[in-house]
Amino acid sequence: MTENLKDLVKDHINFPKSGIIFKDILPLLQYPDVFSKVIEEMSSSQIFKDADAILSIDARGFIFGTAISFYLSKPMIVARKPGKLPGNLINRSYDLEYGSNSLSIQVDALKPYNSFAVVDDLLATGGTIKCVSEMLKDSGKVISGLSVVIELGELNGRDKFDFPVESNIVL
Ligand code: AMP
Repeated sequence: MTENLKDLVKDHINFPKSGIIFKDILPLLQYPDVFSKVIEEMSSSQIFKDADAILSIDARGFIFGTAISFYLSKPMIVARKPGKLPGNLINRSYDLEYGSNSLSIQVDALKPYNSFAVVDDLLATGGTIKCVSEMLKDSGKVISGLSVVIELGELNGRDKFDFPVESNIVL
């Protein structure tokens, strides 16, 4: 499975800006057998058993978080980029491997749950997940762990975190 998954991640050199090798995970979605194995593998992690809910990151994180939520019958909430969510929000800015951004979470969506498993497509520097983990911690929540499909090992993003980090492949 690992060989197939690696083959389905397409490199785009200098996207979205010079010096970045963008790892495009979307070709995976054209191979439902591999996609379902990825979801099964992610879902088998203890971090989901230890969580009340899943927190998925805008936008490719939604693809994987939603599938895991369906597979495990776990509630899911989202962290979204600016201007996308209505209602009372918690907002925080962060640095990306290629720029900066900010994320928002709906206060009401967060309220019913104490612990969260965070899901995204890819871990690079860890700035995105650091931002989300600080939002959760500031709200008095617990993070059971992070699950990503791809981890860029050389960037050591996982060293930023005091919770378990799981990835299907390290590139
Ligand atoms: P980071 O905050 O540096 O860990 O970046 C992780 C987020 O940015 C994820 O949501 C990824 O979708 C995206 N990202 C960062 N670097 C890359 C890359 N080289 N290829 C694809 N996506 C990336």
